[in-house]
Amino acid sequence: MGQRIRDFDWAATDIGPPSAWPAGLRAAVQMMLTTRHPVFVFWGPQHRGLYNDAYSQSLGADKQPAILGQPGRAAWAEIWPIIGPQIDQVMTGGESTWHENQRVPILRNGVVDDVYWTCSYGPIGDDDAPHGVGGVLVLCNETTTQMLERRASQAAEEGWRSLFAQTPGFTCILRGPEHRFEFANPRYEQLMGGRPLIGLTVAQALPEALEQGFVGLLDNAFRSAEAYVSNGQLLMLRGADGVTRSTYVDFVFQPILDDGRVTGIFVQGSDVSDRVRAAAALSGSEGRWRALVDNLPGAAIFVIDTELRYQIAVGEALSAAGISGADLVGRNVADTAATASASLHLSHYQRALDGHPFELEHRDHDRFYLTRGVPLQDGEGRVTGVLAASYDITARRQVEEDLRRARAQLDAVLSAAEVGIYCWRLSDDVVHHDQNLARLYGLPESTDSVLERHWEHIHPDDRAAVQAALEAAKKDGHLYIREYRTFQPDGSVRWLSGRGRLQHDESGQPEVLNGLVIDISDLKKLEESLLASDRHKDHFLAVLAHELRNPLAPLLSAARLLGGEPLDVVQAAWCRDVITRQVQRMAVLLDDLFNLSAIKYGRLRMEMGTVSLQSAVGAAVEAALPLMQSRNQRLEIGLPQPPPLLHADAGRVEQVLTNLLSNAAKYTPPGGRIRLLARRIGPAEGTSHLDEVEIAVHDTGIGLDANDCERIFGMFSQVDSAASAGPGGLGIGLALVKGLVELHGGRVSAYSEGLGHGSVFTVVLPSLPEGSLVQQPVGAPVTSARPLRVLIADDNADAAESLSMLLQMAGHVTHTAADGLAAMSASARFEPHVALLDIGMPGLNGYEVAQRLRADPSRAGMLLVALTGWASPDNREQGRLAGFDLCFSKPINADELLRLLASTHLSETLT
Ligand code: ADP
Repeated sequence: MGQRIRDFDWAATDIGPPSAWPAGLRAAVQMMLTTRHPVFVFWGPQHRGLYNDAYSQSLGADKQPAILGQPGRAAWAEIWPIIGPQIDQVMTGGESTWHENQRVPILRNGVVDDVYWTCSYGPIGDDDAPHGVGGVLVLCNETTTQMLERRASQAAEEGWRSLFAQTPGFTCILRGPEHRFEFANPRYEQLMGGRPLIGLTVAQALPEALEQGFVGLLDNAFRSAEAYVSNGQLLMLRGADGVTRSTYVDFVFQPILDDGRVTGIFVQGSDVSDRVRAAAALSGSEGRWRALVDNLPGAAIFVIDTELRYQIAVGEALSAAGISGADLVGRNVADTAATASASLHLSHYQRALDGHPFELEHRDHDRFYLTRGVPLQDGEGRVTGVLAASYDITARRQVEEDLRRARAQLDAVLSAAEVGIYCWRLSDDVVHHDQNLARLYGLPESTDSVLERHWEHIHPDDRAAVQAALEAAKKDGHLYIREYRTFQPDGSVRWLSGRGRLQHDESGQPEVLNGLVIDISDLKKLEESLLASDRHKDHFLAVLAHELRNPLAPLLSAARLLGGEPLDVVQAAWCRDVITRQVQRMAVLLDDLFNLSAIKYGRLRMEMGTVSLQSAVGAAVEAALPLMQSRNQRLEIGLPQPPPLLHADAGRVEQVLTNLLSNAAKYTPPGGRIRLLARRIGPAEGTSHLDEVEIAVHDTGIGLDANDCERIFGMFSQVDSAASAGPGGLGIGLALVKGLVELHGGRVSAYSEGLGHGSVFTVVLPSLPEGSLVQQPVGAPVTSARPLRVLIADDNADAAESLSMLLQMAGHVTHTAADGLAAMSASARFEPHVALLDIGMPGLNGYEVAQRLRADPSRAGMLLVALTGWASPDNREQGRLAGFDLCFSKPINADELLRLLASTHLSETLT
């Protein structure tokens, strides 16, 4: 450009040739051509242009080199409005100008280029010029490239700023280690309550963030260059109104790297308060719901969908049953085999899906549950599933069951005990009672009635007493009715006894009377029978006294006769007969009494053997015949042939038959007919394998009332009508018959067509099979004995003497002793074969004598017979131990004794 300037024809211009240029212009051009900085010089009134090489590079072909030396306005026509005023300002002595990056669009290479310049317009002094300014020195720098770059980056920044401004999230950029706000989008500003941010550090702008540790997190991210992410973070911010509010945010602190160095932090996030609060609210309600279900003791909740699958299954009842609710979820109700009542559930759930709520009691895993289900519906009323709640009601069921059982037991016990209970409400006279009471009163089978109804069922004779007891109970609170009667529908009567207690209401007024009624009919019957038997006993005692007294008069007469004048043979015989007869009569009486009590106490000893029915009947007839003859009665006997044999005690069978024949004689009027008929019958079914014999005694006597047929076999039982009919007795004969027959395993009964129609008394006894042989016939005549020496020891001299006489008459030799010691000494001298020893003797008693005799070996063969008032099994046993061979009850049956002596095989007999 130096060359071009030198070559230019300046002289042709108003500037003139360089040689004439003023010093200022020369100096400026010189400086211009030596610097490499772009420089342009406007000179003179026409602002002719000079410029250097550096400047020329900003010009296009249109201007280079054409504008050199040209007037400024022409050369820079397109930008003259921009630069013209600046040039004028400087040329007129104004201040120099300075423009950075000024847009000056110049025509370059045919197009108007957006060109940016940073330049200064300064004066070049010239003393001759107006204002002392000859030209303008333009120092300039084209900054178009930088400006375009900046514009681009500004556009980008604006782009992301507007982007961030529109994002729903909040964003800011923090610069430097102190986190200075460089940018914050409106959402961020809004979040921060619109307080000033840009240019301030976080700590300055948001002191609460510093307190809450956010600055520390920023420091970390800045130092570590690692992003920090947080969700649902609570942020407490003070609003413009000074109130601190909680906000929940999700955010990222993203370090901004520049050349690998962290220069700032990009903060980006969103306000999630609503979400967090909704979730919290949701989890709060669900939490409460679950807590409720989980803590409901013994409960479980199910939600079933329309496909019958468990959607929810929770609750303590499940875990208690060992079921995992989670395992049930998703499974079909039908498939839950673990549930015993699955099919039951299935049908109910199906019903619920059809819109019907249900209630179901079921048993699963050995426990009882109550399940209630309701259909779940959506907003439009469509069923979307079933909500079901199950409660464990095992304990309740147990209590109910216990109560039911206890009630049933109580009912059973009350019913068994014939006890009725009731509750009488005084206010309206309604009586609530149980079935037992209804039965006892003969009321219809209801459980409520009015008191009025009860009166109809109470015996008229007892109503007053019952009424009085009820009135008294209302006053003193206790009810006691000893006994009263009610009518049954069939007209029969029950005997009842009642007790009760009055119950008062809160105000102390009598409210209800709770009571019970006991059936005492049986007790009443027992009482009556006891009273009757007491009467019988009294009667018996009177008769017994009479019976015992009767023999005394003849005995006394006989005694007087014997004690007076010497008697002739006939008189003596009469006396003997009287005494024998009366003693026998008393002996029979006493024997009967002893036997009865022995039977009663199970002490009667039986001498069982083979007994010919024929001989037993013979003996009985022999005993009863005199009475029959005296009453002119006819007796017929009919026995089967061959006569049966019995396994029995001969004496007892005789006794039984004698009793029956005697009764027949007694209770049949003179001239009547009595028949004894026996027959074999087969063994009683199922009871015995023995054959049996039935012996029936028929008479044509007074007969019996059907009601008495059984009763007469009781002790002291007599039929009133019979008393007048015959000689009467003690009322123990038939009781004895029954006892003896039963001891033989037999049975006895009475039958009559009615009073005045005669009676039949039947005895059935076991018999030996037909064809059995008599081995040891009993009842054979007493054969004369081989004479024996018999010692008789008894402190009752009469007894000893009479026995002695009896034995002597049979041919034996006797010796009597009055006590034990006498017996001992007598036996030493007399050497008896047999000793008959009374047990109750002074000095040595019978047992002691027997022991001493037995102790002497020389008397080993002696037969020792005990004589006792009562040959009880104990006495017999004691006698056996003392050494007795036999035991006889007093008075002694003479025949039996003689038979015994006759059959005694002794080594030595008298000759
Ligand atoms: P007793 O004859 O001593 O009264 P029993 O025991 O022998 O006692 O008889 C009891 C009652 O049975 C008698 O009082 C009588 O009323 C009735 N009785 C017994 N045998 C007959 C009979 N053959 N005919 C009618 N009644 C009888």
